[in-house]
Amino acid sequence: MSVTARNKISSALHASRSARRRKRCSCEIIPFKAQPAPQATRVHHVFDDALDHMYPGDVVLLNEVESLRNIVDPAFFAIMACPLCGKRDLITQSQYSGTDPVICGYDDCSCHFRIGQQCDLIYLPVN
Ligand SMILES: [Zn+2]
Repeated sequence: MSVTARNKISSALHASRSARRRKRCSCEIIPFKAQPAPQATRVHHVFDDALDHMYPGDVVLLNEVESLRNIVDPAFFAIMACPLCGKRDLITQSQYSGTDPVICGYDDCSCHFRIGQQCDLIYLPVN
């Protein structure tokens, strides 16, 4: 076998191998699909040291944090991380006690829920 022929075979094999590799790689790529985030089912009371890393469903009561109580409008009772998107928002006493429903205040989230017995999250239909 001449050197040229061997080179041709070698490069053909190499091309075929890399083509296979490419093909296999493309088969293994699973398109990323946005999975619905697992929804919190319970309110979880946390302390003010968790304010910077609250998880969905976490609640900090303003009355327990004097530094916040002094600067936040008295109409609000707690800071809650939306059980769906996790963003923090203020809720009133009547929302916390379940009398009024809570609607996430962020445009990119449509979470609508009620807090039952100050601990259960009851999801409501989005209207
Ligand atoms: Zn939200």
